[in-house]
Amino acid sequence: MKQPVPFSPDEADGSRVPAASQVAPASLLAQLDSQPRVQAFLTRAVSSGRVGQAYLFLGASGAGKLDAAWAFAQAVLCEDGGCGVCDTCRRVAHRTHPDVHYFAPESATGYLIGQIRDLLDDVALAPVRARGKVYIIDRCDLLHANAANALLKTLEEPPEHVVFILLGTSADVVLPTIVSRCQQVPFRMVPAAEAVRAVVRQTGVDEVAAATAVAVAGSPARATAFLKSAERREARRVMLRAIDGLAYADEADVLSSAREILGAVKAPLADLKAAQQAELDDSADYLSRGAVKQLEDRNKRELSARERSGIMEVLAAARSLLRDVALACQDPAYVPVNADMPEVVARLTDRVSVTGAVAALGCVEECERRVRRNVTPQLALEVMLFDLRKALCR
Ligand SMILES: [Zn+2]
Repeated sequence: MKQPVPFSPDEADGSRVPAASQVAPASLLAQLDSQPRVQAFLTRAVSSGRVGQAYLFLGASGAGKLDAAWAFAQAVLCEDGGCGVCDTCRRVAHRTHPDVHYFAPESATGYLIGQIRDLLDDVALAPVRARGKVYIIDRCDLLHANAANALLKTLEEPPEHVVFILLGTSADVVLPTIVSRCQQVPFRMVPAAEAVRAVVRQTGVDEVAAATAVAVAGSPARATAFLKSAERREARRVMLRAIDGLAYADEADVLSSAREILGAVKAPLADLKAAQQAELDDSADYLSRGAVKQLEDRNKRELSARERSGIMEVLAAARSLLRDVALACQDPAYVPVNADMPEVVARLTDRVSVTGAVAALGCVEECERRVRRNVTPQLALEVMLFDLRKALCR
């Protein structure tokens, strides 16, 4: 096997031709321009045909590790190294490619051994559509003891066509046995102002809209995707309107707001559901009943992971609104991040004290913790809205 391209931090800034010139403009890698070294490195690995089998992306949240993982998956699976326009590229961009699997811890304390067993069962199967398979393992610092051990051997000698991308904040918090089996790819911190400029460049929206998107979505690439998705923007608005209406909401209103938010979060998942069904229909003839069941289980997990990330996004939107309110309470000249809904910020600022706004922020953070601990999203949202009503209506 060819040696994978090493990550050498000095190279990308030096005399080399910048990799950006080799990146297909429509590809996900092209959106990675706030991490030029990583972009150059991943592009070089693909274009030289020397892709390794286990990578560890390291960096703070908001640095764009997950975006980079999807971008790399696209470039690895596409026959043209990530053209951005073929069927493979489009499926990866829409997160509906059956050969790219995303894993996140399913319990509050970390990965379940069952999750890793499912992953290993899947690794043993041939790719469904592409020439290879990519496994993205988020929060690999939460791979403990048994789950980590189960993964180690495969991580060391994966089947030829498999690439693992593990994501973590720093090598110090990941088990050394895992770190030593992966090629480390450090991500730099992206300052908020720079993230906003990157989004402006990518989308052509003004700075105000870009700042809102970064506040809601986190990284530049996710903010760009957020701005391109009418459904995700609508989900944010539904959340903000629900908070705005809490002052006059009775119990039935609160419950129906929670349902409405959940419905809006689920709307963008219709594509994924349809792709999953099509894949099941395609493979029903030649897969055993056990394999079909496995596929169905995996689909369910993928859907609920996507639903959770949608919920986290609307919760980030709620946090950003309440932060605006808290700051506007203290400084009348404050310019809100949620500049597209000034009337909502103004109404809440009129009604609420700083203490109330800060308490409300705490309610949203508690809800984020509950969702991370796998409380049903609907229940977590209902509890949060009732708590918010109390906090905001003092
Ligand atoms: Zn392609």
